Amino acid sequence: MAKDEEKKIFLTEEEMPRQWYNINPDLPKPLAPPLNPQTGKPLGPDDLSVLFPMELIKQEMSMDNYIDIPEELVEIYRIWRPSPLIRATRLEKFLDTPAKIYYKNESVSPAGSHKPNTAIAQAYYNKKEGVKKIATETGAGQWGSALAFACNLLEIELTVYMVKVSYQQKPYRRSLMHLWGAEVFASPTDRTEAGRAMLAQDPDSPGSLGLAISEAVEHAAKSGGDTKYSLGSVLNHVILHQSIVGLETKKQFEKIGLYPDILIGCIGGGSNFGGFVFPFIPDKKAGKDIRIIAAEPIACPTVTKGPYTYDYGDTAKMAPIVKMYSLGHDFIPAPIHAGGLRYHGMAPQVSLLAAEKMIEAVALPQNPVFEAAITFARTEGIVPAPETAHAIRVAMDEAIKCKETGEEKVIAFNFSGHGHFDLSAYDAYLSGKLEDYEYPDEKIKESLKNLPKV
Ligand SMILES: *Cc1c(COP(=O)(O)O)cnc(C)c1O
Repeated sequence: MAKDEEKKIFLTEEEMPRQWYNINPDLPKPLAPPLNPQTGKPLGPDDLSVLFPMELIKQEMSMDNYIDIPEELVEIYRIWRPSPLIRATRLEKFLDTPAKIYYKNESVSPAGSHKPNTAIAQAYYNKKEGVKKIATETGAGQWGSALAFACNLLEIELTVYMVKVSYQQKPYRRSLMHLWGAEVFASPTDRTEAGRAMLAQDPDSPGSLGLAISEAVEHAAKSGGDTKYSLGSVLNHVILHQSIVGLETKKQFEKIGLYPDILIGCIGGGSNFGGFVFPFIPDKKAGKDIRIIAAEPIACPTVTKGPYTYDYGDTAKMAPIVKMYSLGHDFIPAPIHAGGLRYHGMAPQVSLLAAEKMIEAVALPQNPVFEAAITFARTEGIVPAPETAHAIRVAMDEAIKCKETGEEKVIAFNFSGHGHFDLSAYDAYLSGKLEDYEYPDEKIKESLKNLPKV
């Protein structure tokens, strides 16, 4: 059998990367400095030390190209890593395309997504610096469950502020957090000023990720050093930890003597996409002909419709101001089922690469995304998360173009997670009840009026 006819490309545990890749030194220009939300002045390590352990702050600002993965973390990664790279042969056949479609399967982690890659690293560095409690937020519950899994292994107490609409709609993600020992509150809560302010304005507020971030940040900031904060996406150190995904993928393609022509990932805060594609950026800079595509929902079109600007990371303006694509920190997107893609901003590193045209972005409506998800589930068997299905839609569209042109392109996408807790969304699609939300031009214009003046 020819190497590229193999269905699954595995790495041994020995071949698993022992260093993460840091894109900072390879960016086409330096990132704009993050600013203190109170003073508007550039942020120093001390500003961040209330929220994060020192080692993560160092990683956030590091200019080292590679950073060692501690042996204790390698030990935990081995529960599910290296993850397989799989050729979607049955999908190719269904599409009748000459393209080769590969997906990196990150759904094999215990929490079912890529998120534990950074959750265990963050819990580890907190633990090492003596932190006993962490507060965080979660949208659809994927980050909350990943961090609950990690904190359970590293014996840290975890409090999760879960966006209320998901708290009600996704009870099983909540159960998962409980069984791994976390406490979970529906945000907005009356436990924080940010939460109380929102409840006073709207007692029935469904919550938003921006607001849940405010609650968790406030919880940590006011804990008197007792509790740190942890974020599951957006930040440089998060994407650093996720780079193990792309590093493994590169090795797997080397094993079969192929190199991808197109790389695709979905973007919420940018971490699974960044982790998957960043290790390929040096090759692209060196002249390799490779297209890199980020897929986002049309209901939250951050990179395709937002300006590249300084904005707050959260609704209550407690998180740092960073330069990124943003729809405005108080933008509340429609309740689409890809809850992980409803953040108003985008990772500064991903934003910079998009602004510099090193990567492309496309925005997709819900229904064609679910159609792609169903096609994938019926050919390859695995039920994708609605977020992941955005990447699948783009991969399928590119493979269909190859059919028209006869090109045998190698297309690879990151399978960021499974959809076993999203079956009610599939029910809605299958019974024809899934709405396609229009791009909310007016709402975005409204919320962009409140950008910080810096
Ligand atoms: C959280 C999540 C996303 C979006 O977050 P990113 O930081 O953009 O990766 C995508 N897919 C899945 C399965 C998720 O859980």
